[in-house]
Amino acid sequence: MHTYDKIITQIITVLLICAGMFLITRLINLDPSFVNILWVITIMVTVLGGSGIIIYFSRLRTERTLIHRRLDHLQSEGLRVYRKKFERLLYSRDVADLPKLGKILYDFDVLAVVQPKDHQEVKAIIRLCEEFAIPLIPRGAGTGGYGGALPTQNGIILIFTQIKEILSVNTETNTVEVETGITWRRLREFLEKNGYDLYTYPSSAPSSSIGGWIASGGYGIGSSKFGDITQSVHSVSIIGTNGEVFVLDNPSDFIGNFGTIGVIWKATLKVRPKIPVHHIAIQPKSREIGLEKFNLLQTMNPFYLRYIDQVSLKWITNDEELGSIIKNADSGMISATFLETDWSDSQRGSELLDDILPTNIAQELWDDRFYTLRLKRGGPSLIVSEVIVPSDVLRSFLAYLSKWFQEEKYSVEIVALNNRNSMVMVWFPTDQRKRSLPILGSIPYLFHWFRTFQVIRIAWTVNGSTYNNGGLWLSPYPKKEDGENVRKIKRLKKKMDPYKIFNPGKLESTRIPRFFPILSWNLFLKISLPIASIFYRVLPKRYR
Ligand SMILES: Cc1cc2nc3c(=O)[nH]c(=O)nc-3n(C[C@H](O)[C@H](O)[C@H](O)COP(=O)(O)OP(=O)(O)OC[C@H]3O[C@@H](n4cnc5c(N)ncnc54)[C@H](O)[C@@H]3O)c2cc1C
Repeated sequence: MHTYDKIITQIITVLLICAGMFLITRLINLDPSFVNILWVITIMVTVLGGSGIIIYFSRLRTERTLIHRRLDHLQSEGLRVYRKKFERLLYSRDVADLPKLGKILYDFDVLAVVQPKDHQEVKAIIRLCEEFAIPLIPRGAGTGGYGGALPTQNGIILIFTQIKEILSVNTETNTVEVETGITWRRLREFLEKNGYDLYTYPSSAPSSSIGGWIASGGYGIGSSKFGDITQSVHSVSIIGTNGEVFVLDNPSDFIGNFGTIGVIWKATLKVRPKIPVHHIAIQPKSREIGLEKFNLLQTMNPFYLRYIDQVSLKWITNDEELGSIIKNADSGMISATFLETDWSDSQRGSELLDDILPTNIAQELWDDRFYTLRLKRGGPSLIVSEVIVPSDVLRSFLAYLSKWFQEEKYSVEIVALNNRNSMVMVWFPTDQRKRSLPILGSIPYLFHWFRTFQVIRIAWTVNGSTYNNGGLWLSPYPKKEDGENVRKIKRLKKKMDPYKIFNPGKLESTRIPRFFPILSWNLFLKISLPIASIFYRVLPKRYR
């Protein structure tokens, strides 16, 4: 149990005892001397409970003073420590801000944010956290959207912006060893200059870190041909309990753990010789035809394949020249990229495909692959629900979306993950500043966050699942969808993180599933779908 749980439990216990006592003496006709004894007991329990709370608070204060003294000492030896309120505030969110109602459940503030420059400094911080049993939250660039890098129970945030070197390239094994904080874009630029390329990288590559994506796991650009990030990682060095470094040659157990077992320190990634690519763009005559073409292209071994609907196109693309073409793309566009070595087969296939647009448009869509967040133009706030859907049922999935989200503002992007499955991103542009109520916060913002759960329910209907469900907001789902994996991670955590300091509250039972288990109930989500649609329709326009 952590700080707030302990305090709340104590207060509730004392209140319950008093309330129970009050009711008993009112409802039951007891002997007055017995009532007096009961009151004496109640007062004693209350006094003991109350003093427990006071002792607890004073211990907490002493503990904090000691931690700050230790941080002062480390700072005097060269560690960068940030403790001012505005500095801490910067790290209390990631790319999306949780709704106010969700925030009530957690303590997003921390004691400090530290920026180590070497292993010794990380080791000192890990030891400090273990000694005082406070959480340590590793953080990359904070581009995750579901709160994976957020503190939940106070603690210390560890950022890696000083740990970003390329350590070595091995041309015999085709691998590169890098430090955790380097961005995917910088690594890729370096490799390209030397005739190499990555197998896969996330579309957040301009800012996201190597360590952050390995810790999150997932599919990126290149995955439809080469598989997810697990296939690209040769080995990782972890700094774990007591600050010890250990190397994992088979790191798949560590990938996708959201930093809950240790800190990723270095990674050796598999690389490949750079191969030229070909881009094509297609403007289908209807969405149905578009999905057929998408399915066809998906069988042709594409390096990257995505379908962008009309609404997304309008917001994502930046080129004035494309304006008129995009205006007419009522059924969206498909953008596909093939390695030259796969191109001849694909080209033969692509002759079957009419509606191919000029190459400059294909190039433009490829160049825009990093800029999904331009969708904020429709917002200014943006909420996304990402789900995995078998590609042969994409049509039914989109039909369900149109049915339930009929009058709402949303847009869709589909990316092929392999030759069978696709990731569908449903974007809800909204405005977090609008119509705020006490406790609930902004009504449209909360509503659209709730809609993300319903997108998951629609995915379940067509045998789909959540994508990358390890953050805070999606914490009701890992146990439900992949219970065996969660148990495996828990066993690993028990062994490797005996003081339970590494990023608590992710992948395991957190307060969202504890307080709102209903959010993962199939039946509840099913019933709430039509209710939410009606609610949206009757909601006065100014609240939407
Ligand atoms: C525009 C955009 C595009 C995106 N595209 C993709 C995509 O193509 N594929 C995809 O899967 N995701 C994508 N994402 C989600 C996100 O960017 C990725 O998960 C990303 O790689 C996270 O990296 P980060 O450095 O920002 O990590 P953060 O968001 O800072 O952290 C993510 C998680 O990793 C942990 N962590 C960070 N660093 C370490 C470390 N050194 N050791 C241990 N744990 C650590 C954190 O505690 C947290 O739980 C995208 C996001 C955006 C905004």
